[in-house]
Amino acid sequence: MVFPPEREAVYVQRMFGWQGTRLRRLVLFAPLFFLFFICIQALLLPPPLSEWVQAPLTWVGFVLLGAIGLWMRTVRSADLFAWAGVALQTLFLVFCALSTRAGHGGLALLLPMFVATPLVTAPFWARARTVFVAIVLAYLAGALALWHSAAGSTVWLAYGVQAVVGGVIAMAMHATVDNARRGYFLAEEELEQRARLDALTSVLNRRHFIESGEAMLMHMRPGQVLSACFVDLDHFKRVNDEGGHRIGDQLLAAVAHCLLELQGEGRLIGRVGGEEFALLLPGMHAQEAEHFIATVCKSIGALAVDGFSCTASVGVAEWHPGESLSDLLHRADLALLAAKRGGRNRIVQWTAGVAA
Ligand code: GH3
Ligand code: MG
Ligand code: MG
Repeated sequence: MVFPPEREAVYVQRMFGWQGTRLRRLVLFAPLFFLFFICIQALLLPPPLSEWVQAPLTWVGFVLLGAIGLWMRTVRSADLFAWAGVALQTLFLVFCALSTRAGHGGLALLLPMFVATPLVTAPFWARARTVFVAIVLAYLAGALALWHSAAGSTVWLAYGVQAVVGGVIAMAMHATVDNARRGYFLAEEELEQRARLDALTSVLNRRHFIESGEAMLMHMRPGQVLSACFVDLDHFKRVNDEGGHRIGDQLLAAVAHCLLELQGEGRLIGRVGGEEFALLLPGMHAQEAEHFIATVCKSIGALAVDGFSCTASVGVAEWHPGESLSDLLHRADLALLAAKRGGRNRIVQWTAGVAA
């Protein structure tokens, strides 16, 4: 699978969106886990808990980890959060390492934590290089623990073996999970796209056009204007009957291509029937919409596929505040019928008269 580089930022942010809430809670556990680590050491090793409680390092670590965790809860950028996570994890392990006591074999019991932490956290981070740095720093923190507790060569050797094996497994786990997630992400994007767009013309399909149009009208504020255009190709059946459906399809796609050039500024362009398109043009009065669509009708008239061409008839209606999308499109449709009755290849604005 080749992941398109231009989708990288969206992917990373989407993954963060999925995991963000949980991770923001998880980071608050760092200072608590640090105290827990100290308590476990006090249980396993001879020095009493009071020795750790009196050590400034315990409280510096607790406060610093807590402050970073609290700050991370405000971070919205996935990359910044990931690097802050690496810093938090590394500091957590460094404080754990520095709180170990020299000369106690009990350290060997605690070493699995240094090995396990990167294994557990590896799939959380979106980018491989962040994971790699997190893993290396975690194992270096483990080495610091060994040095701080004056571990013997056997422990160093055992730790080295575990770190190498753990590092490779953590990177492999991350790659597997990340690869699968990227695959799902691309599949999901494609499904979204397919569910939104018309397969032949790539404009919005009817359902998505209606849903988005209704949402757009719901969010109209007082004083805002919007116009709808209903476009129907003239005598299109003839193109199919004389040139075949393949030519008809190609001509339809070419017409849609012209319409898609109007995209932008919140405009919605959809295929609402076989050779019928509808447009919602926010910020335009009917008169402006008429001028706007007139240029496209010219371009549509100039299209030709294997010598076959077509013209378009258009009905335009300006939205009345509070009106539903269905009523608005109905008025545009009535204006379209008037354009057809008037001889086709023309644009008609809705007036109370066209309804008659
Ligand atoms: P009018 O000017 O009255 O609109 O005439 P018309 O022939 O365009 O209208 P009519 O409703 O009689 O025919 C519409 C034609 O559009 C019939 C149908 O074959 C064609 N059509 C609809 N969807 C497609 C499509 O996806 N591909 C092709 N090739 N033709 C289509
Ligand atoms: Mg039609
Ligand atoms: Mg037609």
